[in-house]
Amino acid sequence: MTTPLNKRGKKGLNTDLKRICPFKKGDRLMVISGKNKKSMGTVRSIDLKKSSVIIEGVNLVVRHTKADVNRQQAGGKVEKEAPLHVSNAMLVCPKCMKPTRVSRGFVESEETGGKKKVRVCKRCKGLIDDK
Ligand SMILES: [Zn+2]
Repeated sequence: MTTPLNKRGKKGLNTDLKRICPFKKGDRLMVISGKNKKSMGTVRSIDLKKSSVIIEGVNLVVRHTKADVNRQQAGGKVEKEAPLHVSNAMLVCPKCMKPTRVSRGFVESEETGGKKKVRVCKRCKGLIDDK
């Protein structure tokens, strides 16, 4: 038995994951659930396969590490950001400064002369990608 591929194959799977995660590195996010509710931070990294994001300074966990003699690292407590599921965070719109859902739109691009895909704020309809 082989597991059936999704209709679009592997590449399609990848774009599906991108659609689930509307965030990009450097975006400002607000956490909307859990113990870190209402804390804000910038996206440091995104894991599309796990649909999780690491937000700077948010969701800190204390790791107890052992001293590593070879790498000359001292042991002890280290505070680290833990990844958060994308559904627990919302994008903060740079225009209206409020957490918002994101819709997709197209704008005319002067550089290429064609259309460019952008993210649009559902609240104020302002463009999130300002380039
Ligand atoms: Zn907005």
